[in-house]
Amino acid sequence: MISIEQGLQIVSNRVQAEVGEDFMPAEDISLSRSIGRTLRQQVSADLNSPPFDRSIRDGFALKAEDVRSVPAELDVVGESRAGTSYDGSIGQGQCVEIMTGAEVPAGADAVVMVEYTEKVSERRVRILEGVKAGRSIQPEGTECRKGDLILESGREIQVPEIGVLASVGCARVQVSRRPRVAILSTGDELVAVDQKPGRAQIRNSNSFTLFAQVAAAGGEPELLGIVSDDVEDLGQKVGQALERDIVITSGGVSMGKYDLVEGVLADHGVEIGFDKVAMKPGKPTVFGWRGRTFVFGLPGNPVSTIVSFQLFVRPLIRRLLHARETGDHLLEANLEQDVRCDGVRAACVPASVSFGDGGYRLKTVDWKGSSDLVGLSRANAYVLIPQQEGSLKAGTRVRFIPMAPSLC
Ligand code: AMP
Ligand code: MG
Repeated sequence: MISIEQGLQIVSNRVQAEVGEDFMPAEDISLSRSIGRTLRQQVSADLNSPPFDRSIRDGFALKAEDVRSVPAELDVVGESRAGTSYDGSIGQGQCVEIMTGAEVPAGADAVVMVEYTEKVSERRVRILEGVKAGRSIQPEGTECRKGDLILESGREIQVPEIGVLASVGCARVQVSRRPRVAILSTGDELVAVDQKPGRAQIRNSNSFTLFAQVAAAGGEPELLGIVSDDVEDLGQKVGQALERDIVITSGGVSMGKYDLVEGVLADHGVEIGFDKVAMKPGKPTVFGWRGRTFVFGLPGNPVSTIVSFQLFVRPLIRRLLHARETGDHLLEANLEQDVRCDGVRAACVPASVSFGDGGYRLKTVDWKGSSDLVGLSRANAYVLIPQQEGSLKAGTRVRFIPMAPSLC
């Protein structure tokens, strides 16, 4: 049995050796569809931002020296509003009425908020508070300057990136093509989710958790359905699945009489990199490849499937996408209770993390083992328990993977 780290290294070596940097080509998509995609271009500012000295208040643009002693009355010589600037330049004793977002006219060096003024007449205003030069003005180019590199290739496009791309005129963006991921659930006992299981049957939940995990990682999932524990049926579906970039099967990789997946993969020319990992849950995780297709035979127990995906498949998808962030965000927290370790296998178990005095605090949830999805649903993180004898005492600092990115 190999360790999780050794397993990850084997996957990584395979990417390096055979696939190279050109694996997932870039494609051009519309900006409005780009959320969650991985950027594949360097993005530079095409203009200064702000593009001119901008007022950040509604008020009057003036010369600060004119209001050194207040109250002071000034002539209102014009207006500058968002979208239409004041063309002239202001002189001594003059001001321009200005709105938020509008260009500060030449000759002005400060803006006094409208709240600190009184209208005297249509063309005259009384300023009640003095200001220093620069007040309420955001100078041109202070956010970024034309030509500045503002987004680098490999960045995941989230809401702020969409805003940046829009503001620099990228109506279309270059992103990584999503790796196509075929998902196959094996097991004679499986029925579709809309069916009532008969005796000794269960509903196929793995196809759905895997579909969601693939999509969340940035891949393009494709459900190939349920396959029976039958060499021919399995062989036919595996053959079809191997056309994709990644194949994920669930179930059929333990030591049982009907665990046929690894043999069928080998029959189809899949080279096996590993087939057992010293982890709990998820020990019988299989990784292999055929040509440029990566293959994962994940264990069938629903929580094992989810955890194995998280640890092995997700980083591969991120890597193929050329994402800068390929690993999980590992955070640290103090254990609230003692946790038993295992001398043979590291564990990745459901846990509940809360934020309290002194940072994150973590406790394992009431969880009945690798088939317990209900227990898993009480968790918001996976805690990583090292392979060692004995137990970790309450208060020990441990690493965890948050389930929802919002915790990062
Ligand atoms: P296996 O790895 O095929 O031995 O399956 C281990 C356990 O996971 C068995 O109890 C299966 O019934 C269950 N299981 C396998 N595949 C699925 C699936 N697609 N959805 C839910 N449970 C599954
Ligand atoms: Mg099975």
